Amino acid sequence: MSYARTLLGDVAPDTLGVVNAHDHLIRTGAGEVYIEADHLLDSVDKAVEEAGYFVSASRNWSPDGGTVVDMCPANCGRDVDKLAAVNAQVPGLQIIIATGFHREHVYLETRSHWVSRYTVDQIADLLIADITEGIDRHDYSGPIVDRTPYKAGVIKVATAYGKITAFERKCMEASAKAAIETGAPINTHTTYGTCGLEQAQMLIGLGVPADQIAIGHIQRNADLYYLRQILDTGVYLEIDGTYRIKYQPEANRMMELCELGKRGYGKRILLGTDSGKRSYQKAYGAVTGVDFNPAVDGPRMIAEGFDPAYVDDLLMNNGQTFFTMRKDS
Ligand SMILES: [Zn+2]
Repeated sequence: MSYARTLLGDVAPDTLGVVNAHDHLIRTGAGEVYIEADHLLDSVDKAVEEAGYFVSASRNWSPDGGTVVDMCPANCGRDVDKLAAVNAQVPGLQIIIATGFHREHVYLETRSHWVSRYTVDQIADLLIADITEGIDRHDYSGPIVDRTPYKAGVIKVATAYGKITAFERKCMEASAKAAIETGAPINTHTTYGTCGLEQAQMLIGLGVPADQIAIGHIQRNADLYYLRQILDTGVYLEIDGTYRIKYQPEANRMMELCELGKRGYGKRILLGTDSGKRSYQKAYGAVTGVDFNPAVDGPRMIAEGFDPAYVDDLLMNNGQTFFTMRKDS
């Protein structure tokens, strides 16, 4: 039986409802918060409120509500006990938790980081254990590992602006091994939409099935020729970064979604919001948040004349297919 691996267990993928393929409900510390305090998302109550908006907008599209893929990876302020507390208070919410890695920059100084000290196989084993046994309560941030019942259902990899560092290559090699071993999908972070093609080529070269790779934050590089080059490797693209007007107008994301759909790529596009800062969430006072795809994008696409079946694919069906695990593990 095919399944998606959520915080509460394995479920039939078609029960995920609206799928927000990249977002953040909880982040309790670590490098990104040190770099910019706006990244601190440590309040269960605020996350419950934010997730509540998402579920209520999702119910306009699916009676199942919705799924947030919380893309905080290992040693980045991931707190699965808090995520579980959120999940328990929001009916109609499912959460898929990530393991894997962010870009090197986020780990600050990395000469002594365990990624630098361990072998690729040792790192892969830690990721595999997150997926098959349960995520470490301490987020792999110290020597004591205490596994929770909450398993990861997706692996994150990430690269720098316009380059892939040696640290990031090692993380990608370990992640590819873990993906092949467990059948989990890989969802990536690109910085400003750079290195998307190189990520796809490298992960495919390492043996990960192309249709289990999604290249994320790629909307920032609003270049249709480039986006099609990546899609032609067989991977998914994730269009997220909603309402980031300081970088580009919403019309760019709409144009990408419209044109890629017309050119036959519509089954391999995921939506997310990546509202990973306080200033990007309604619960902390922003005008938009984690509910943006079902609350704003969906109605806008319909108003702009998109085929309703394509809108359903973008909001629900593509994510349900992508986050399906490929192995019984
Ligand atoms: Zn993110």
